[in-house]
Amino acid sequence: MPQQPHQPPEDHYTGQYEYKYEYEYEDGNALAGPLAEILAVDPTTVLGRCTGCGSDWPLARLHVYAHAPGYVGRCPDCDHVILRLVRSPDKAWLDLRGTVALTFPLGT
Ligand SMILES: [Zn+2]
Repeated sequence: MPQQPHQPPEDHYTGQYEYKYEYEYEDGNALAGPLAEILAVDPTTVLGRCTGCGSDWPLARLHVYAHAPGYVGRCPDCDHVILRLVRSPDKAWLDLRGTVALTFPLGT
């Protein structure tokens, strides 16, 4: 008896689906409103998660070293570098690579 050719299940992720959404994006201007909303909250109420140890903490708990050219925030549980913030008169650089994500409490 010949084998049936492989048929993907009905809900199988097809190449057509991928192609359909691959080119449906907006430019970065679409983030202006959502980012403006979250960046306006009190930073001390923001919650973060450490990429080093996975602990969660409010930003106010970070150990901040401010005696460098900028600020360095370290995890209160493992001392991993969570963020770096450097300012010049006309620019600011914020490096968040030490946090998995930040959670911003929003008023509803
Ligand atoms: Zn940590």
